[in-house]
Amino acid sequence: MSAPLARISVVIRNVVWVGIVAHAGFVPMFWLLGHPLLAAFNVLSVASWVAARQFNRRGHSTVAMWLLVGEVSAHALLAVMTLGWASGFQYYLIPLIPFVMFNDRLGMKVVAGVSVTVCFAFLGLHALAPAGDVAGPVAVAQTYANIVIPFLALALVSVYFRVASTTAEQYLARMALTDPLTGLLNRRRMDERLEEERSRFERSGRAFGVILADVDHFKSINDSYGHEVGDRVLRAVASVLKQGLRGQDEAARWGGEEFLLLLPDTHQQGARDVADRLREAIERQLTELAGLSKPVTMTFGVTAFAGSHTLEACLKSADAAMYAGKRSGRNRVVDGV
Ligand code: GH3
Ligand code: MG
Ligand code: MG
Repeated sequence: MSAPLARISVVIRNVVWVGIVAHAGFVPMFWLLGHPLLAAFNVLSVASWVAARQFNRRGHSTVAMWLLVGEVSAHALLAVMTLGWASGFQYYLIPLIPFVMFNDRLGMKVVAGVSVTVCFAFLGLHALAPAGDVAGPVAVAQTYANIVIPFLALALVSVYFRVASTTAEQYLARMALTDPLTGLLNRRRMDERLEEERSRFERSGRAFGVILADVDHFKSINDSYGHEVGDRVLRAVASVLKQGLRGQDEAARWGGEEFLLLLPDTHQQGARDVADRLREAIERQLTELAGLSKPVTMTFGVTAFAGSHTLEACLKSADAAMYAGKRSGRNRVVDGV
């Protein structure tokens, strides 16, 4: 099922009980008010809300939507023409507008058409329906219910609009900032964080550590176990690195099997100690975590930004240190200059 269809489906699933309960309540009320025809119509209404619920549950949410639009419109027209404008049944037409908008499978022309039709139906009823009178306690209760229930429906649909849009925003923000495979920051976000730390250094003079870490012989892991196991190793690396860092530290997937760690308020020696600990944790935990028989190790290049180099030079230094570690045998930590 596509995401847009799921949205209207969620709304119907949550709003349908309001419709079923409200219409079931109308049956005895119309009977008491001396309108057996309207009471009978409400039995049909309850049936169509139950049917809409079934359609929706089976994945036919657009059919369910049109069934509900038809039911609400016919019900409002019939009730206002019979009981008059004072009964307030016309208010049920208003929540149809946001309700239909929720189905983004429908084109703009269709939703605009429904909105205009609702407005004309409202105007038409205002011109043609009898004024009606609200006599007796049941009629008074009905008039108030006809204000409260449409507001409730409107509020419910609006809540779903709010939830749908904030969830979508959060999802997009997460996608823009994180690497989907490992859940770590992506390179773009890490670039921003490095820049933030650099300007913080200018104000506070606080150095920060930078560690570049690369999985050793990763190509041979992919070659011998397959790409999926390779991905599993990358996720396991991310989890070990995260566990070994403090709350304020950040980790990013910098490239394929290359990770960049940012350690605020940390000098070279502090960063070196962290890298030593991480190297040891990777060597000790990763093979088992990723379910491999061959040991998995990483090589680390460590540097600190303390104002004497540019940020670019600092990253180059971590890179050069990491490659020096590769050349001298891997599974080690090398300090940058
Ligand atoms: P070294 O010890 O010198 O770092 O050797 P290496 O094999 O780790 O380095 P190399 O750069 O030759 O190979 C990196 C491999 O990482 C090649 C590429 O196919 C693989 N890779 C990059 N991104 C991904 C990914 O997202 N998933 C998987 N499974 N593999 C990836
Ligand atoms: Mg590698
Ligand atoms: Mg690499």
